Amino acid sequence: MSNGIQPIRGMNDVLPAEIGLWQHLEAALRELVAMYGYEEIRVPVVEHTDLFKRSIGEFTDIVEKEMYTFRDQGGDSLTLRPEATAGIARAAISNGMLRGQKHKLWCIGPMFRHERPQKGRYRQFHQFDVEALGFDGPDVDAELIVMMARLWRRLGLTRVSLQLNSLGTPESRAQYREKLVDYFRGHEAALDADSRRRLGGNPLRILDSKNPEMQAVIAGAPLIVDHLDAVSRAHFEALQASLRAVGIAYTVNPRLVRGLDYYSRTVFEWTTDALGSQDAVCSGGRYDGLIAQLGGEATAAIGFAMGIERVVELLRQAQVVPEGQAPDAYIVAQGERAAAAALAFAERLRDEMPRRRVALGLGGGNFKAQFRRADRSGARFALVLGDSELDRGVVAIKDLRGEANQIECPMAEASARLEAVLKE
Ligand code: ATP
Ligand code: MG
Repeated sequence: MSNGIQPIRGMNDVLPAEIGLWQHLEAALRELVAMYGYEEIRVPVVEHTDLFKRSIGEFTDIVEKEMYTFRDQGGDSLTLRPEATAGIARAAISNGMLRGQKHKLWCIGPMFRHERPQKGRYRQFHQFDVEALGFDGPDVDAELIVMMARLWRRLGLTRVSLQLNSLGTPESRAQYREKLVDYFRGHEAALDADSRRRLGGNPLRILDSKNPEMQAVIAGAPLIVDHLDAVSRAHFEALQASLRAVGIAYTVNPRLVRGLDYYSRTVFEWTTDALGSQDAVCSGGRYDGLIAQLGGEATAAIGFAMGIERVVELLRQAQVVPEGQAPDAYIVAQGERAAAAALAFAERLRDEMPRRRVALGLGGGNFKAQFRRADRSGARFALVLGDSELDRGVVAIKDLRGEANQIECPMAEASARLEAVLKE
């Protein structure tokens, strides 16, 4: 395609051959949110740039370097959403959904970040996102976690584990931040350029650094768990007690700070050892201050996002076989009159067995060519309708996968016979 239009780097097509696992996962997600009583919300893919600057924070990787920002024809600065929380918080405010009310919401869709594309890290990727607005926890914190633990069980994924931390309140965090800045100022020679830059803006993010040369200085840094206020500590302990009570394994990781500014108290991340360095599959936390900061009324809230591509990859590695898309029956029509009758016959079958997949051999061609297409479609049975069958009002049912003998039955009984053989 040298002269053709190239795809955008880091933005992938999901082809029909790959879609099975996506649909398998999406079906499991829809089932999950229904079980727990979360409602779907759909928000725009584009928002005013300021929304993300004000919510995610100026000194974050996302806002500093990853956003797809552009001016529209009217001169407004717009950004393709890099995550869903900000848009959902904005929607709750714009639509007057708060006013003391509580909402348990979810959404799924594409997010955009201008990162260096590599396996498990793309520029357009997809998230499953859950947000609980108006709950101050820790019961809801526990619910979000047990819900995801159920998803992993349901999907048969065993190589995921949970890390937890608490960031305290903005006040306790500010005190901790001072201690941290003091510490890093005392070790400034050991800091890389990124960390030096963060020291002034967002020193907690230094703890998040993936640079191996930074790990020693990070290991000596004061711990946020030692600087929690009493209420945050009680919240964190109650969450852990709930998780222990339902048997969810977790590790407290005092260096888990998360890349976004808006978090407070509970933060968590599900990671895997099966995906190399792109090991985070689901991350989230509490953001009690965000909605007020965006101009809404103060509303406690917590949410998380799961990376669909990474979980699809885990499913693929676990050799999960999704339900196939192949037709149950493929109609092969031969002869002018039979071809003319085939559409109505196919429609009748679809009326009579709406849960089955009935493909009609489109595009004509001789018998052999049509059978080849029927075979390639993966259909289990071919329904053969020739002019002579049509005259007798019958259709032949031929097993394309097994040994069963070809049978002939009245067209009016075709769906019942097909159901019977499909169940065998
Ligand atoms: P990472 O540390 O891998 O960059 P993150 O902390 O930036 O992740 P979040 O912003 O919390 O990730 O997004 C939630 C989830 O979305 C992640 O746990 C991950 O599974 C997925 N995710 C994030 N960025 C990407 C990306 N560029 N491509 C694919 N999936 C991603
Ligand atoms: Mg990231």
